[in-house]
Parts: sequence; structure tokens; C-alpha cells
Amino acid sequence: MNDKSKAEAERRAKLLKMRAERLPDIKKQFEENQKRNFNANFAPGGKDEKLVAKKKAAAKKAKAPAKKAAASKTAAAKGSDVKLLVNTRKGEMVHHQRMLSADVNAQATQHIIGIPVNKSRYNGFKGAQLTVNQIRAARPDKDAVRIIPIGGLGEFGIGKNMTAIEYQGEMILIDMGTLFANADYPGVNYMVPDSKWLDDNRDKVKAILFTHAHLDHIGACRHLLPFYGPNVPVYGTAFTIGMIKKQMSELADVPDMNYQIINPLEHKEIKLSQHLSAEFVHMLHSIPGNTSIVVRTPNGPILLSGDWRFETNPMDTPADYDRLREIADKEGFALMLNESTNIDVPGTHPHSEYDVGDNIGKVMDNYATGRIIISCFSSQVKRIECVLREAAERGRKVAFAGFSMINNVEVALRAKSIKVPKDVIMKMEDIVKLPDEKITIVCTGSQGEMNAVLNRMVTGAHRHIKVKATDTIVFCSSPIPGNEPKIMGTVDGLLREGAQVIQHNKTHLTNIGPLHLSGHAYYEDHVKFVTDLHPKNYMPYHGEFYMLEHNAEMAENVVGIPRDRILVADDGDIVELLPNQTIRKNGRIPVGNKLYDDADQQVNEAVVKDRIHISREGIFVVILTISKKTGRLIKTPDIVSRAFIYLDNSEELIGKIRHYLRAKTDHTIASDADVKALKDEIKEDVTHILYDATGHTPIVIPVINKV
Ligand SMILES: [Zn+2]
Ligand SMILES: [Zn+2]
Repeated sequence: MNDKSKAEAERRAKLLKMRAERLPDIKKQFEENQKRNFNANFAPGGKDEKLVAKKKAAAKKAKAPAKKAAASKTAAAKGSDVKLLVNTRKGEMVHHQRMLSADVNAQATQHIIGIPVNKSRYNGFKGAQLTVNQIRAARPDKDAVRIIPIGGLGEFGIGKNMTAIEYQGEMILIDMGTLFANADYPGVNYMVPDSKWLDDNRDKVKAILFTHAHLDHIGACRHLLPFYGPNVPVYGTAFTIGMIKKQMSELADVPDMNYQIINPLEHKEIKLSQHLSAEFVHMLHSIPGNTSIVVRTPNGPILLSGDWRFETNPMDTPADYDRLREIADKEGFALMLNESTNIDVPGTHPHSEYDVGDNIGKVMDNYATGRIIISCFSSQVKRIECVLREAAERGRKVAFAGFSMINNVEVALRAKSIKVPKDVIMKMEDIVKLPDEKITIVCTGSQGEMNAVLNRMVTGAHRHIKVKATDTIVFCSSPIPGNEPKIMGTVDGLLREGAQVIQHNKTHLTNIGPLHLSGHAYYEDHVKFVTDLHPKNYMPYHGEFYMLEHNAEMAENVVGIPRDRILVADDGDIVELLPNQTIRKNGRIPVGNKLYDDADQQVNEAVVKDRIHISREGIFVVILTISKKTGRLIKTPDIVSRAFIYLDNSEELIGKIRHYLRAKTDHTIASDADVKALKDEIKEDVTHILYDATGHTPIVIPVINKV
């Protein structure tokens, strides 16, 4: 056994021992929690019992005005009550509508709004839910440093990362990311942090800092950054600033910003305001120019880890752990915010980016006679460098396909983040003229995105390339959770064309792999990192709620940070770092989301809810033309059904509705109020008839034209 593996074995043994020692404690805590959650809440006078009583009282209250409304209804349209020929009670329909609306709301508001439920034992209140009264009573400590996560904590999916740090009216912002919406949000492409609170506090902002150039950290720049203008410096590494500038250059009005490029290896302390300064520390991730940020405050240094991974044999400059350890030992981190993405993945990174490169070379050797199409994330510049090197060694040429791919390589070249061998890169339109065995294409689409290059190559929608049986397609990526079905669809399409598909994590099929290296640290990497940096206080960030919780458990149970020095916070929580270097939650800021479609246009939440409703139940429009004098129908009502029933097959039901409408419009309508009342009644009755016939309650829209 050499020294290295001996040290490794010792470290693991220590880790296991630490865990074993704490096990009885952990068990006890777990049991306590169980008791608290299940008994205390439901006990007489408990939280949940009170809640039930409150709901009952509210329901009673709501009943009274309903009667009033019924009375006014008969007054508005006297005598026009028409008997509906239905078998279901109205209550059944109302129940269906209520359930539907609850489903729609739940689907359309998975992001954090209001006060989220957080009864974690690390929630800062010993597991008790934060209340409105507590928030109202919160008074800021004027000597506290306030750390406010604006996005990125406990959302569905990972993204929208943004943190504010404030001290006595001076504020800095770190990262401005987007969150990609999932299929639950029809027509929404991404979300950005709602900027209402930011708007109100804009004058306080002294500097904006970026850890790295992934979209979950810089994607919202186009929407948020222009407000700050040239008086607020924007700090980042050359590649990060290059990517931000590229994004801003796509705006119709390119804002005049004050960009400051940082070389983190210089260990320079940047003064941001009277009391706050920052230092960027070089860290490794799946993108060039990645950093952690140390913010020095009057109450001690705060480390924001950003995204990071451990690598023993990196292609990039090795991570500057020494500097972080130096700061930890000399100054001591008062608070560490640590990312949580891969906290659920055991162990540590088993291979390096060089291994991925070697395996890409192996693909080129084993499938030497055909075209090789390599699909990866466009920000994985080092992986692209591998492809270029392996191709150059074999006399292959490389072309890039996809807007973001070409963009990123350009920015990387300018920031000197990529080494490119001579005469390897060619334009797409030129490379396709070469013989197949010379062609290598690097493209986007590894996540099965329908509109990305790879899928276009499958369907034949791509301008230059159609996949054929002699092609080999390499997926240098892991599926982002949730994307698996889409990726399978793409792989199916490729295999149907007879092509060879080589995916990461399927080494047993082709004997080639690994073809990917995750950008985020694994569990044991976190244990080592946090143990080495021994922060006084700890706050997981950059993760879904379960990741934050597991990260906190790791810090307490394995690293040994006391529970009252760990916080599982949500977007909007105000975390105070006090002069005595303790932390607490003290109030909340309002947080929310702005939703955007793929044309960067804002989508209102109400529109999303309508879309979900329509996708489930459809839409049904009745158009009535009635006489001003008699109130009678002048012609047969027009009926439009979309995403609901097919009219040609539903004559009986349509007949029933026309019959109802004729009977309903038998009386004079004098005022606008009468028209409104009539509309409301038609809406309700038609919904009831449709529900009776189909079990669904589409959105019913009555239109009344008076002539
Ligand atoms: Zn990242
Ligand atoms: Zn990230």
C-alpha cells in the first residue's frame, strides 16, 4: 500500500468511526422529531387541531354571503330559471371544480411564494413552523450582517441562484440565475427571481459578483443587470464576464455596464463598499473560470462555495484549496454557504476529465470509418478541448453545431480558456464535404431537447446533416433528473436510423466509458471540504429541499457542526450573522418569480393556470345574438369547443345546450347588470350540463351580442 492509498484508507476509517459514534445520537434525534411532528401537532390544542377549527369557522362565514348572492341572482333575471335536464347534483360539479382548481394551483406554483412550509430541525426555530406574526415582530439587529437567499434554495429543480449580503445599508449581490421550468409549466421556458424587493433596495447595491457562467447563475442577467448601470461594478473571471457580455449583447438596448475582470489566482482583496470586501478563489467545476467567493464583513468572513467538484488530476489549473484553507486557519469562516447538488451521491469522483478524453479517442479508434457526433453541454469547454485534441491526433476535423455551442467556444477562445490545435476546426457547411471518416461534429441536445441540434439531425430538419446508419453518436453527459424520457426518445430515433449510440454509464454495452464527469462534488468530497474549512456556522444552498436537508445532516452528523449553527433556509429568509458570530433567521423578504417563454416574453401566472386548466378540461364558447327589444335569440347560438369534445360527435349534447339557451333568453334584458347576471348564470348552467354529460368542467365563455 502506498502512502496515498494508506492515507485514503485511514480517512475512510475515520469517517466510518465518526458516523458510528454519532449513530445513537442521530437515532434519538430522529425519534424526537417523530414525536414532535406526529403528536404535538394533532394533540388537543396542537397546531393542526387549531387549523381545522379555523377552517370550520371560515367555511361557516363563507356560507352566509352565498345566500345573499342567490337572492340577487333571482332579482337580476326574473323568472328566467330554466330546469336543467341533468342527473348530477350541482354540488358534485362544484366539488369537481374545487379539486381541479387545487390541482391547477399546486401545479402552477411549485416555486416558492409566501411562507413555505419548513419544519426541518435545522429551520432555526427548533422545527416549529415560522408564522406571520413572527415575521411581523422581526426587528433587524443593526450590527448584523444579513444574508438573504433570493433564489436557489428549496425550489423544484436547481436554478435561479442569487444571494444578497447586506450590512448597514450596503448591499452586494452574488449571481443572477434562471430556473428552467418543467413540463408542469406549459409554455414557460424559464423563471427569474421576482425583483420587487430588489427594485426597492436598488440604491443600496454597491457591487454584483458572479461565481461562474452557468445559466443557473447568470441566466437572469438580461432581465436584472441593466437596472444597475455603470455605477455598480460587476465582478467575475474573464470567461464569466465574457459570457455575461455575450448575453447582454443580444439585448435591443445594450446597457452600459462596469465590468471588472478578476484573476482569482492573484488572491486580491476587492473593496466593495465601506464595510464589505471580497476575494475570488479558483475552484473546479464543469465550466472554465469557476470560483468560490469569500466576502469579508465586520462580523467575519463568509464563504460562498459556488458550484465545485474535487479533482485529483484536473485538465484545468488545480483548485486553490490551499488559499481557502489558509483563510479558514488564519481568519476562520464565520459562515459557509455550501452547494448541495450531489449530496445524495455517495463516495467521491472516481475518474478525471482525462479519462473522458481517452474514451472519446477510443470511440474514434473503434468506429474509425464513419462520422462521429458528440453531444455534450455547450459550457463544457474542457470536454470540447478533449474532442479537439483526440480528433487532431487522428487527422479528423471538428465542426460545432448549435448556437450556444459556437457562442461558448468563441467566448472561451477570447478568454483563453480553451487550447485549440491548428487546422482542426471547420465550419459545418465545409466539413460535410469531407469523407465520413474525417468528420467529427460536436453538438447540443444531450438532454433530448426537441429543438436542439441532435434531434434535428434525427428528424432531417437540420440544414447540413441527416443521421445515417454509419454514424456513431456519443452522449458525453448524464441525464438531468426529469429528462430521461426525452433522452430515450432521442436515442430511439437514432437507433431507428441504424446509427451506433454510445452513452455514458452504459459501458457494459460497448466497453467504452466513462464519458462524463459530474461538475458537482459527491458526499465524501463535501465531508472533507467542510471538515477542512471548519466554518463556525453552516448553511446549505444551491439545491432542492431534500438536498439542503441532507447537506445539513452531513454537517451535523459527520462533520460535527452543532445543530444550532446550521440553518436550512428558504428563498426569502433573512439570515443574520451577529457580531458574536452566531446566526439566526430574523424575518423574510417577499420573493417570487417572473416567468418567461422561449421568446423572452413574460408569462403571467394566471395565463399558466388557464393553460393547465385548458390542457386538462378544454374550453367551450357559446355566442348568443339577442334582440335588444325582446331579449330573444335572433339566430341559433354559435358553439365553439376547443381541446374538449369534438362537436360533430356530440349532436345530442349540443342540442340540449341550444335548447337550454333558447329557454334562458326568453326575457327582456334592460341593463348591463342584467347582461352580466345572465352571462354568469349561463356559464354556471352550461358548465353543469357539460359536467353531467362528460365529467369535465371546461372553461365556459358566454358571449352576448345585442342587436
Ligand atoms: Zn454550475
Ligand atoms: Zn449551479
